[in-house]
Amino acid sequence: MYEKERQELILTLREKGITNERVLKAFLEVERHLFIPQALHGHAYADNALPIGFDQTISQPYTVAFMTQVMNPQPGNKILEIGTGSGYQAVILNYLGAKVYSIERNHNLYLRTSQLFDNLGYRIALRCSDGTLGWDEFAPYDGIIVTAGGPEIPTNLKKQLAPGGKLIIPVGDRKSQKMHILQKTGVDSFKTTIVPDFSFVPLIGREGWKIG
Ligand code: SAM
Repeated sequence: MYEKERQELILTLREKGITNERVLKAFLEVERHLFIPQALHGHAYADNALPIGFDQTISQPYTVAFMTQVMNPQPGNKILEIGTGSGYQAVILNYLGAKVYSIERNHNLYLRTSQLFDNLGYRIALRCSDGTLGWDEFAPYDGIIVTAGGPEIPTNLKKQLAPGGKLIIPVGDRKSQKMHILQKTGVDSFKTTIVPDFSFVPLIGREGWKIG
């Protein structure tokens, strides 16, 4: 279903600078419409964020593709995602062979997406908690992707990153953020690249924004 629409989305992603063929194949194979409300299925393959209920959104495909291309997960890599939401980004990472751990703070979304993963047969470890604290039990991670925008980079996430690992997080105010891409070069040293102009829902938590 929607194969032609997915092919068109791939062309859009290519035009916007997504060149990694493995990532593009994931966008061709993973059916985004399965992660959004049925009433919006007709809009699933436009390059837009969409509402998924509980005041939250599924990110724009380009944004998911951009973060995935930067992360470039290899089979067997251990990746932590903060902000499970619809589950789409987690499944894209899983499709690329990563072992995915994902944290969602909204209990209703956590329950709904857990059920969806069970129904679709995905083995992705989910937890309902404040992702700004990370998930210490399974650290260190080869990569950490934060899919909500925070005011700063949570120290716990920096600590839980493996040497050489990448942390990708939008940082800014509540309306717009710059993508911060950190690569761990030593116990507490990082090489940072900053890419402007993203807009995410707020990262709420101990090391995020204080209220929703
Ligand atoms: N990765 C998601 C997807 O593919 O649909 C994007 C979801 S949305 C843009 C961001 C999510 O982050 C929301 O579901 C929100 O509830 C969640 N969130 C916000 N602050 C959080 C926190 N401190 N810990 C975990 N999840 C958080």
